[in-house]
Amino acid sequence: MEIVEFDSRDKMIIEQIRARYIDLTPEDCYTCLKCTNGCPATKLYPKFAPHKFMVASIFGLVDDILESGILWYCFHCIKCETRCPMKTAPSQIISSLANIAISRGIAPPKAFTGMIRAIKEKGAIAQPREVPTTDFDFLTRDDLGLPPRGIKDIEKFQKALKIIGADEVLAIKPKEEEK
Ligand code: SF4
Ligand code: SF4
Repeated sequence: MEIVEFDSRDKMIIEQIRARYIDLTPEDCYTCLKCTNGCPATKLYPKFAPHKFMVASIFGLVDDILESGILWYCFHCIKCETRCPMKTAPSQIISSLANIAISRGIAPPKAFTGMIRAIKEKGAIAQPREVPTTDFDFLTRDDLGLPPRGIKDIEKFQKALKIIGADEVLAIKPKEEEK
């Protein structure tokens, strides 16, 4: 049986969460699991369980969660919020914890920083592909007379990303690169 060291709890975590979302009331959660049972991310990643983030936040036992990178698997679909009988909000707790992880210098998993970098540099995660014709020629959007896709003013877009903290995330060294 795993013993939890209760003295190791972070007693300030609830205050830090509330500093980001003032109306959050994780202590109203009574672990009915409706959030987790309806969560699309849980279906893909069974270790991702919104109710656990609620309980861990209430008890201040979030260090492992912050370090693990699992918070980044949330789709932010808000389904948990709509299903919760107590009108509390796992999705906002998750966003709040992810923000706290960043403020502590904990990088998101590499795949996520890669996506943020692609958005910053090119305005989108996936770039338009060439399409094949029946003669196996490959045509670009330009060849097809389609307008270019993506951000019109990339510099303005990058400034906006800076304001919301994207550069701060990209500046954190992923753990495996620290050595
Ligand atoms: S649905 Fe609401 S009350 Fe139920 S476990 Fe999730 S957060 Fe807690
Ligand atoms: S917002 Fe996140 S935690 Fe909530 S249901 Fe969607 S994927 Fe699950």
